[in-house]
Amino acid sequence: MVTPPEGIARVVLVVIDGVRADAVPLFGMPHLEHLMARGAWSLAARTVTPSVTAAAMGSLLSGVRPTTHGLSTDRFCWPRPTAPLDPLPRVLGRAGVPSQAHLARVPRAYRKLAEGFARMVGITHATLQGDSAREIVAAAEASGRARDDGFHLHHWPDADRAGHAAGWTSRAYAAALREIDAALGALVQLTEDEPETLFLVLADHGGGGQDFRNHDSAHPHDRRIPLVVAGPQVQPGRLADGYSLLDVPATVAWALGAEVPEGWHGRPITEAFVNLPDMATPALAIAC
Ligand SMILES: [Zn+2]
Repeated sequence: MVTPPEGIARVVLVVIDGVRADAVPLFGMPHLEHLMARGAWSLAARTVTPSVTAAAMGSLLSGVRPTTHGLSTDRFCWPRPTAPLDPLPRVLGRAGVPSQAHLARVPRAYRKLAEGFARMVGITHATLQGDSAREIVAAAEASGRARDDGFHLHHWPDADRAGHAAGWTSRAYAAALREIDAALGALVQLTEDEPETLFLVLADHGGGGQDFRNHDSAHPHDRRIPLVVAGPQVQPGRLADGYSLLDVPATVAWALGAEVPEGWHGRPITEAFVNLPDMATPALAIAC
């Protein structure tokens, strides 16, 4: 394992729900492409099985595959894990790093469940406000916490909603991508003068593979996702193929100086960073 880059005070993880990898060059997302130009990126990363939001978000928060964390349908319900879980916000909490989440409004009946789930995984502050990426970013800004140190999780539903309603690659889908991209520009601007911010942007799944208005299949359009890492000490360029959504929680923990649990199924994307010393080369060996 290599030591993490120095000077990362916050990691902003943005989950752009249902943005399939080929949509980025196809429709153009200038703010996302700007992050890609100054970051490390892949348009060939893959999500978990099944390629549905609850399974993917469960994996991002727990570091393990859906078969382990137990969320494997496209509905949020109380998970039934098959092994003890060590969720990312709790891992960060042990290292003294707070976590905040900015998610869309949920129906009143589910609000208590969502807040209870956030508490259970160790999220210290959650806002569940707004129905779109722009509104979620506005709520994050209004919370006064957008520049706080620690882990910031965003989930934006616009593209998935448009995909289900009108199809992936429809005009409505293209319009949703523009909205998401504008929100990303606004979010990046919130920490523009905070150079110690690491951005991780990815989709939870693609869409329109097997079914033009759905995303739960093994088709590459459903499974392939964009993945962007941008921030301090990131080596700009295209990442090797083969990264998984499961590598993202490991990267968040590692970048913020927390220990990546052995039971997690992903590994930090160290390839994205430059000049990292290898912890396996002890200074003591040289002294002897
Ligand atoms: Zn969906």
